[in-house]
Amino acid sequence: MTAEASHTPSESHEFQAEVSRLLHLMVHSVYSNKDIFLRELISNAADACEKLRWRALSEPGLIAEGARLAISITAGDGTLTIADNGIGMDRGELIANLGTIAKSGTKAFLEQIADKGENSRLIGQFGVGFYSAFMVADLVTVVSRAAGSAEAWIWRSNGLGSFEIEQADLADAPEHGTRVTLTLKDDAKTYADGFTIERIVKEYSAHVPVPIELKAGEADEKELTDGSALWAKPKSEISKDEYKDFYGTVGGQWDEPALTIHYHAEGRHDYSVLLFVPSMKPFDLFDPARKGKVKLYVRRVFISDEVELLPAWARFVRGVIDSEDLPLNLSREMLQHNPVLDAIRKAVTTRILSELGKLAETDAEAYAKVWDAFGAVIKEGLYEEPERRDDLFKVTRFKTTKSGDGWRSLGDYVKDLKENQTRIYYVLADSPERAAASPHLEGFKARDVEVLQLTDPVDAFWVRTALGFDGKPFQSVTQGASDLDQIPETEKTEKPADAERAAGVVAYLKEQLKDRVADVRASSRLAESPVCLVAPDFGPDKQFEKIMARHEGLGAASKPILEINPAHAQIAAMAKRLEAGDTAALEDAAIILLGQAKILDGEAPDDPADFARRLGRVLTAQLG
Ligand code: ADP
Repeated sequence: MTAEASHTPSESHEFQAEVSRLLHLMVHSVYSNKDIFLRELISNAADACEKLRWRALSEPGLIAEGARLAISITAGDGTLTIADNGIGMDRGELIANLGTIAKSGTKAFLEQIADKGENSRLIGQFGVGFYSAFMVADLVTVVSRAAGSAEAWIWRSNGLGSFEIEQADLADAPEHGTRVTLTLKDDAKTYADGFTIERIVKEYSAHVPVPIELKAGEADEKELTDGSALWAKPKSEISKDEYKDFYGTVGGQWDEPALTIHYHAEGRHDYSVLLFVPSMKPFDLFDPARKGKVKLYVRRVFISDEVELLPAWARFVRGVIDSEDLPLNLSREMLQHNPVLDAIRKAVTTRILSELGKLAETDAEAYAKVWDAFGAVIKEGLYEEPERRDDLFKVTRFKTTKSGDGWRSLGDYVKDLKENQTRIYYVLADSPERAAASPHLEGFKARDVEVLQLTDPVDAFWVRTALGFDGKPFQSVTQGASDLDQIPETEKTEKPADAERAAGVVAYLKEQLKDRVADVRASSRLAESPVCLVAPDFGPDKQFEKIMARHEGLGAASKPILEINPAHAQIAAMAKRLEAGDTAALEDAAIILLGQAKILDGEAPDDPADFARRLGRVLTAQLG
């Protein structure tokens, strides 16, 4: 029996639907810079080499005697081959890895493309991996042999809906690793040109941590990059472009980094750090897994990108941490619970916060961009890491009733406190527009008191547990008896001719609405609206209750307090009627007032049909 005869015949597999969509986008060249396909294939090849280097630490037999892990690019006649002697793929891995999309970022990207119709620029910013080969090739052939396996397999596709899998002759396959051969499209033949390849490698892949060799035409093999670790070089020898290029390589994002943090720590632990804060939001920023992407190296050997080297709120940070102290053969368990890594995590997190703080101080505009992109994520730290809250507050920025187009810090807020103001006021809302329209703000406006507008879902959580800033507690504008009376008004609002009149209305409403509200009281919170609803002094904020009700399907929990504005014409008119003993229309007025308060909160009145009926009755009386 020959070796050929033992081979299984070629088998055809359909691509997962999402892959077909992505391929369609690729082939129709939504992205005009096709060069990026090479950096994606090189990146895969480098990952494969680094994975094998790590595996071979515990299984030295996996790497062929004397082999140097490297990537080789060979330009042929209308073909381009990218080969690595890395970890390789077995049959199952070829089918799973090159037939489906596992990465949540890519999935999220595809969803966004569907939403917006054209976001093609972003393909280049984030990279979509292996499938980008079909931008330049009408046939892609992958021959792969998993390290330690006695079989090799061929994967072949024209990118049109399906791929073929077939067993390969061991004689034609790498000893271990993967060879990707592109049969270039007619309009992409330049990619078989040595100079073109060299230019692209230098531009995008100069700092891949595995050497890259080029074989083009008759010329000798040439080393394009030596695979040395950029983070191990002194800062003074690294240019801005080199940093940027490395950021792209390590982070898989090709925007301009907003912040580069590069240092070497010595002392109890010895390690190097090269981290970047991106300027653009990655697609999977709000992925529920909240996974970080920082890579762990030990003495220049890649160990893992699955270890959480930073807290979840810093998951947007990209880069590497390279330890001198850890053993190379770390098991998975040792990686998860390791005191050295814990200490590094703490120290690096502190450093990131201080660098963010510095940027905020020295370049507010650049920092505003970082905050725009990642503020909602950084604020998760306020809730999850109370011990870092004070440091996090220093870099936290807010939209407030006074921020305009810019951002305000808590430091700014406290500096501008009004006479007698002892609290930091905030309003929770779904959107800045809603926040600005809240009737609860009127009394604050009349006193020129600044109010934080908290519109990210995470805000409701941290603000409840944070004790305050600089000794000033946080207080919701919809909660409790506000101490606004202590703060003098700057814009004079009309005072009630007679405060006792309001007292009459309060008493009347208490009686009429006793089943629906916990209390009724006159308020200094309001200037233009007749009424608003607030939460009891020690209960949860109303907006927070709403969020919880939405998330957990609970009904609204506690009964609200109705506050009335004694200065408002509607209340004054009610007072007059009460004094005259004319209560005919007042029952309707009471229910309508409560409904108004609900509507101002963005909710429906308790019984909308009843509300509408009463409103109709009052209108008819008025118009008739
Ligand atoms: P990504 O690399 O971003 O995960 P790709 O589509 O580029 O996405 O690749 C999918 C998967 O295929 C990789 O995660 C890897 O497991 C596998 N793969 C691709 N190229 C190689 C290679 N040269 N050697 C080994 N595995 C590879």
